[in-house]
Amino acid sequence: MKYIFFTGGVVSSLGKGLAAASLGTLLERRGLKVVLQKFDPYLNVDPGTMSPYQHGEVYVLDDGAETDLDLGHYERFTSCNLSRLNNLTSGQVYETVIRRERKGEYLGSTVQVIPHVTDEIKNRMRAVAESMGADVIITEIGGTTGDIEGLPFLEALRQFKDEVGQENVAFVHVTLLPFIKAAGELKTKPTQQSVAKLREIGIQPQVLLCRSEHPVEDDVRNKLAMFCNVPKDAVIPFLDVADSIYEAPLRLHEEKFDDIVCRCLGLKVPDPDLSSWRQFVARVVHPAQKVKIAVVGKYIELQDAYKSIYEALTHAGAANDTRVVVQKVDAQELDEEGAEKLLAGCQGILIPGGFGERGIEGKVGAARYARENGIPYFGLCLGMQIAVIEYARDVCGLTGADSTEFTKDTPHPVICLLEEQQHIEEKGGSMRLGTWRTVLQEGSKARELYGTDTVSERHRHRYEFNQSYRELFEKAGLRLSGTSPDGDLAEIVEIPGHPFFVAVQFHPEFQSKPNGPHPLFKGFVQAALDYKSAHNL
Ligand code: GLN
Repeated sequence: MKYIFFTGGVVSSLGKGLAAASLGTLLERRGLKVVLQKFDPYLNVDPGTMSPYQHGEVYVLDDGAETDLDLGHYERFTSCNLSRLNNLTSGQVYETVIRRERKGEYLGSTVQVIPHVTDEIKNRMRAVAESMGADVIITEIGGTTGDIEGLPFLEALRQFKDEVGQENVAFVHVTLLPFIKAAGELKTKPTQQSVAKLREIGIQPQVLLCRSEHPVEDDVRNKLAMFCNVPKDAVIPFLDVADSIYEAPLRLHEEKFDDIVCRCLGLKVPDPDLSSWRQFVARVVHPAQKVKIAVVGKYIELQDAYKSIYEALTHAGAANDTRVVVQKVDAQELDEEGAEKLLAGCQGILIPGGFGERGIEGKVGAARYARENGIPYFGLCLGMQIAVIEYARDVCGLTGADSTEFTKDTPHPVICLLEEQQHIEEKGGSMRLGTWRTVLQEGSKARELYGTDTVSERHRHRYEFNQSYRELFEKAGLRLSGTSPDGDLAEIVEIPGHPFFVAVQFHPEFQSKPNGPHPLFKGFVQAALDYKSAHNL
């Protein structure tokens, strides 16, 4: 088995996750079985309890693990199906070490970062290697070289490399070459220093991936090769991609990134077959049509809060030969300014998941606007709960209907806590999480789009549709088109007769892939196109 480790230098946000995922694409298309994973040095056990302002989206896996959004890149860029083993945090490492200490498992030793914490990190590496049976395991180390929290991980990898043999390990260092305008040149010193830091720990990177906004000329490559002790051809420019993140594997392949990594590891594998990837990128970059979709959310100003949703819209757009132009609408602003003003001209409205009260009334207003004007509506998780609240208030006549998440003493708790959630006090990992089956009702829009009668989708929520209102809703025309197999939980609601009003309690965005767009997203974009042409927009 071969191991590739991605470290980051100089600054964060260099696209390390994207680079790791892109290498995954390239190696998989060379016929290798690839697994990707991330080590996050922070002390949270998982990102599930972090605010989107701190962390961006929480990406949910099949087994219910709440993980870093880079795992979303990994699953979208390769065919690997990840589990909770694939996102290790310092919080998990220390939790395990301390639990073992309390049980007396260290037999009287003083428990220390080296060897006990580093051993635990290596144990996890081995557990993944043993359970996932890959040819190559690509591991991204979160944070930047020089971070205090990252040191135990780097030390563990240094030891690991010696244990499995240098010939089986490659270190890729993703770094930044800042451009100094006054001097008119790219600077190599920050990279030299961050590589020096790695070498101090005993890690010599074999490949430098150099983020830069300008072409990296020969003299810069020579200098980096010399000062950082890497072959010149392993100093690889990683320029900003022009139009789409999905171009990254193609650009890196042109720079021979995958060849060089294979050379470092002694892997003799054929060239990658990138034809279907190229076709997908061409559809993303040069589509024939365009459609405008409003995403009404609370964290709209953050680039990463709704990452998987934006990606799923891109996949669905490509499948419809369409560019999806996302109009980001702040829910609170919508409440203040009115739906007409902020949503006029959009051809579809999507309400993503979310927590807490802020912006709720704006989202309800957006759902009403979509329902009344026949504009395609797609609700995800909270977006379904919003659709139910709106329908209760405006169609069923249940004045003051709400979710107990927002109004504890609402007269009509149409969304409420599940019995099993009522006594839970700990916040971490305690929601209804992971993949659950949904049975689709015959003749429904959902069944037509999925083309099957049961589906498995990923969940992350505490609150649920209140079944005691079921009949009332059905009489008033809201269709519960998807339920849990026992029929007890509403998973999908839709409005028959509306061109597209589909809202789901799960997160379909986590299972959309470039060449496997999610059927509901695909149907939603198609409906938006139909709306656009019907209204001559
Ligand atoms: N806040 C809602 C709940 O907990 C919705 C969660 C979500 O959108 N992910 O049920």
